[in-house]
Amino acid sequence: MNFFVFLGAPGSGKGTQAQGLAAAYADVLLHISTGQLIRDEICSETELGRQIKEKADMGSLVSDDDIFNVLAKKLECVKNKKTIILDGFPRTLNQAVLLKQFAEKTGNMIEKVVYFSIADAELINRLAGRFTCVHCGAVYHNQHNTPKTDGVCDFCGSHDFHVRPDDRKEIVEKRLRVYHEETEPLVSYYEAQGLLFKLDASQTVERIKEILLKNISL
Ligand code: AMP
Repeated sequence: MNFFVFLGAPGSGKGTQAQGLAAAYADVLLHISTGQLIRDEICSETELGRQIKEKADMGSLVSDDDIFNVLAKKLECVKNKKTIILDGFPRTLNQAVLLKQFAEKTGNMIEKVVYFSIADAELINRLAGRFTCVHCGAVYHNQHNTPKTDGVCDFCGSHDFHVRPDDRKEIVEKRLRVYHEETEPLVSYYEAQGLLFKLDASQTVERIKEILLKNISL
């Protein structure tokens, strides 16, 4: 099992690319979004879900231990997948260390860290138009990435969409601030380890997919 870490600000397109790749290569590739795992905990009203709902809705990070435990529980159930795309994890230096230790302990490796680089102004514009499928969490945008059939999810056929609470304009700025403070230091952390692959995330969804396919060995 190899890990590809998709690193970037909220709205940089890492989730869209991860879900597209995982759908195209479902037999070997698994997309794990820690944000989606958190939303699942909240919707299922688990003990943890109740504790972290407010934090997540307000755009703050949940604790490193909580997020790592949720991820580790998910990874325990993974079978027969060669490659895991981690979308939204790690998001702090401490989480990066936890991941490194986990990979070493379980004999897996972090193959590459794809850094989706993009200016804040573009991110705010993107997040403002974002909506997600209530059923499977697929992410769309009302200008750049609409469902193939209007009102129908490409991935699960559901007709129910919503705007995530943390995609509200006033929360988006907070999430970007948290990203710059907590997550951006990971760029130089992984660069120093020779793992970083920097991508211009302002390009089209199709172009970025092409670049990824050339650089991810499945
Ligand atoms: P996302 O969908 O990746 O933007 O994540 C949504 C929310 O889930 C974040 O704003 C955090 O509250 C929480 N979350 C997701 N991944 C992490 C992480 N690696 N560390 C801490 N909190 C996280």
